[in-house]
Amino acid sequence: MPDVVVSPATTQEVVAVVKTCSKMQVPMIPYGGATSIEGHLLAPLGGCSIDFSRMNAVKRLSKEDHDVTVQPGLGYLELNEMLKEHGMWFPLDPGPGASLGGMCSCSCSGSTAVRYGTMKDNVLSMTVVLADGQEVKTSSRAKKSSAGYDLTRLFVGSEGTLGIITEVTLKIHKIPAYSNSVRVSFDSIDAAAKTVQDTLAAGIQIGRAELLDDTMVQVLNKANNTRHREATTLLFELSGESPGSVADAQRAVLALAKKRGGGKPHVATNPEECRELWRQRKEALWSLMGLYPELECMTTDVCVPVSRLSDLIGQSKRELDASRLPAPIVAHAGDGNFHALIMFDRTNPADVAEADRLSSFMVHKALEMEGTCTGEHGVGVGKIKYLPEEHGDGAMHTMRVIKRGLDPGGLMNPGKVLAHRRDPQTGRLVLCA
Ligand SMILES: Cc1cc2nc3c(=O)[nH]c(=O)nc-3n(C[C@H](O)[C@H](O)[C@H](O)COP(=O)(O)OP(=O)(O)OC[C@H]3O[C@@H](n4cnc5c(N)ncnc54)[C@H](O)[C@@H]3O)c2cc1C
Repeated sequence: MPDVVVSPATTQEVVAVVKTCSKMQVPMIPYGGATSIEGHLLAPLGGCSIDFSRMNAVKRLSKEDHDVTVQPGLGYLELNEMLKEHGMWFPLDPGPGASLGGMCSCSCSGSTAVRYGTMKDNVLSMTVVLADGQEVKTSSRAKKSSAGYDLTRLFVGSEGTLGIITEVTLKIHKIPAYSNSVRVSFDSIDAAAKTVQDTLAAGIQIGRAELLDDTMVQVLNKANNTRHREATTLLFELSGESPGSVADAQRAVLALAKKRGGGKPHVATNPEECRELWRQRKEALWSLMGLYPELECMTTDVCVPVSRLSDLIGQSKRELDASRLPAPIVAHAGDGNFHALIMFDRTNPADVAEADRLSSFMVHKALEMEGTCTGEHGVGVGKIKYLPEEHGDGAMHTMRVIKRGLDPGGLMNPGKVLAHRRDPQTGRLVLCA
């Protein structure tokens, strides 16, 4: 728990909080929608939690330029409610309840990244308050710029460890005029993953390509009282500006699925049915937790080049099925990214060790395949141990140089991304080597 919580309403108030914390050597932990899952919001060294719920305004909207400037506490769901009346949306979809500041900080993405990219591709500029209280505008509103170091992308994904975001300018997109959702099941996870690979290789434009393993379909059937075939399943969204373009893409995807042994597809064209399908997918984690109320969930987040997904997901599935812990899989298959949701009893050391073993198995396999330990959730506390193996000495040294340069007192969300400890002699926070 932090020692104190503050709720600023303006950038000036954030500056005042930061200056006070820096002077008093108090760690600062920005707090957005609180949907992050790697212990990002913990205060292992105490400190001040900075709650952004009062900074939730839309500052400006440009339909002509397709961009919007918002305060960081605004939720993406609320932003989309507002944009809907203009026929626009911000397509990234992490956990329901996430704020745009938290989403920038975690470099999140979600089911639509296969078409729209991640936060790194969708933030034009930010205002950030540095550890010394200085306010920095990272870039202009221009769609591209070669003017100097890319500060925007330095802060996107920095998890509150380099500065505090007080304003964000985002790209927004037109809501596609037509969209269908397709559900097709397979006898093997390999065939499903390869179908997604084939779809991307064929250049078919897809809005989403999500994979559920048989165990996850069972969970969703129980939670939503549905009776879908309990086998590995792909969910596609196909969207475009004419019914013909959507129908063409749908035909092409279904032909590829059939070649890989896909079963009889179900196509949803009714917007209500499509929304319901994607709601069930988005709430998969909560459906699972509802079935095991006494257990905790360790969510893994490995990501590999798409050509390696079938190999990694196949090896992981065999390991998970052999374990006594329930661990269904959901994948943003179009990005080579998947989550095993490992359920365990945290009061049972054998369960904790087994969940750790499974997670570490997947991370090491992903790194062998030139992948990453986290595709979208971020490092927080949980993934710190994997960074040296993923990045090597040179990159780790560079990250520490950046951290020391921008936050010499180590007060910005300490103990996340890079490990910190308190020096017993001086009481100061220092970066661990
Ligand atoms: C059911 C569920 C589904 C999810 N699905 C996805 C998914 O599909 N894709 C995905 O990418 N993620 C997903 N997530 C994870 C989560 O939603 C994302 O990581 C999201 O980006 C976190 O945003 P938040 O506002 O909740 O951040 P928080 O949890 O509040 O904070 C996250 C980090 O951002 C920092 N931070 C917050 N505000 C600021 C600020 N103003 N300035 C600087 N730093 C700040 C915090 O200090 C912390 O380090 C899911 C989570 C859940 C629970």
